[in-house]
Amino acid sequence: MRRRIASASLVLALPLHAATIAVDVGHSLGAPGATSAYGEPEFFYNRSLALEVARQLRGAGHLVLLVGADGEEAGLRSRPEMAAVAHADLFVSIHHDSAQQRFLHPWTVDGVQRWYTDFSGYSLFVSRQNPAFAASAACAQAISRQLRQRGFQRTLHHSAEIAGEGRPRFDRALGVYEADFAVLRHASMPAVLFEAGVILNRDDAVSLRRPATRARMAGAVTAAMGDCLAARPRE
Ligand SMILES: [Zn+2]
Repeated sequence: MRRRIASASLVLALPLHAATIAVDVGHSLGAPGATSAYGEPEFFYNRSLALEVARQLRGAGHLVLLVGADGEEAGLRSRPEMAAVAHADLFVSIHHDSAQQRFLHPWTVDGVQRWYTDFSGYSLFVSRQNPAFAASAACAQAISRQLRQRGFQRTLHHSAEIAGEGRPRFDRALGVYEADFAVLRHASMPAVLFEAGVILNRDDAVSLRRPATRARMAGAVTAAMGDCLAARPRE
């Protein structure tokens, strides 16, 4: 009898919608992406957040393939190909954002001139060239909703009103944009590129390096999986 109760609770503990999710660490040690307002390379922000996202997804019962965590340049085509080999249900590329040069202001940190911007917040990108565009967009919207519930704000600095950006908005309220980034185009499964915040923003850079912030963001991504993978339309 006791054994029967134990196995019943084990079944209840299993996630309702366990999936295989590829978590891609944007950039590499050799080409680390943007530089924060304090001089820190984007790659390290990306890796720290990706590891926390992977940890929480695994905790929720999902299988996770981490791509690019060793810092070797994986290649923008081979990253989603690795996800395809693993039969991933979703590809999430983790990045931290910059801004165009004309929105940057100089300041000095420890005697070194650095750059900062006043733009702040997260954004999400999906590509119509991805064969699972609708599912990609649904996941991006689900992640954004969960982020908003946890008090994070989206940035609008990629939207078409900003000259030189002109990213088509998929969902302005939720900060979801269309962009044909290589990892999104080459992915055969739903794919989302997540800019967690603007590390050229002095407040974002400080907040995003805190483990508590990463934990809240990863919690949002993990909670969104239950929404978007379950609701995924057939394509
Ligand atoms: Zn990046």
